[in-house]
Amino acid sequence: MSFNASVITLFPELFPGPLGASVLGRGMTDGLWSLNAIGLRDFTTDRHRTVDDTPSGGGAGMVLKPDILARAIDMVSPPHDERPRLLMSPRGKPLTQQWARQLALGPGAVIVCGRFEGIDQRVIDARGLEEMSIGDYVLAGGEVAAMVLLEAVVRLIPGVLGGQDSHADESFENGLLEYPQYTRPQSFEGIEIPAVLTSGDHGKIARWRAEQSQALTAMRRPDLLAPRKP
Ligand code: SAH
Repeated sequence: MSFNASVITLFPELFPGPLGASVLGRGMTDGLWSLNAIGLRDFTTDRHRTVDDTPSGGGAGMVLKPDILARAIDMVSPPHDERPRLLMSPRGKPLTQQWARQLALGPGAVIVCGRFEGIDQRVIDARGLEEMSIGDYVLAGGEVAAMVLLEAVVRLIPGVLGGQDSHADESFENGLLEYPQYTRPQSFEGIEIPAVLTSGDHGKIARWRAEQSQALTAMRRPDLLAPRKP
């Protein structure tokens, strides 16, 4: 079983975009995951291929119509489909590393990208869409948000990062930010690599990295260290 992502969007031509590059692109070629982008406009029935209408109750902008979107979802994700149905939305559950890791173990995801003011609430409810946010700011559309979500998830699919499948040290994996990294040359603009890293003493290196992680997290993200509020 490999991971399959179906993305419903007004702009299917934006995909795979960055998801087709580097190790993620190779993972796709190797069959570790697949992506299909579905154009929402293909599910319209009128001559003008209308996907949106004015908000009921008034106000600015346009809202994606529920009937068109429901048709697209039903085609892409029939009732026996076990993939979660996600809707990219600033009102959604914040995307986390832990959540990405869970999704990476599953069969994939169906991802709906909003545009304009958003989508009709009735289709969110009727098709059980789970709203996911990539942060507390508002984008113009869900496409980039879907790419962010997929990039975070797909690199965690076993085999995609090749030999580096242990992510234990990475930022957020152990509740901390990652320690600083260095590589050659030994001297860069007069600054040396910290001596401990070239000492060959693996115990000392592990302790130094742990201390650095702890200090960096305390300084930049004390919220990660604070006990979770109930
Ligand atoms: N009126 C909406 C915002 C619409 S932005 C509101 O105030 O909540 C248009 C589309 O961009 C949304 O439907 C969503 O799919 C996407 N989007 C915008 N910001 C996002 C975010 N932070 N996370 C995920 N998707 C986002």
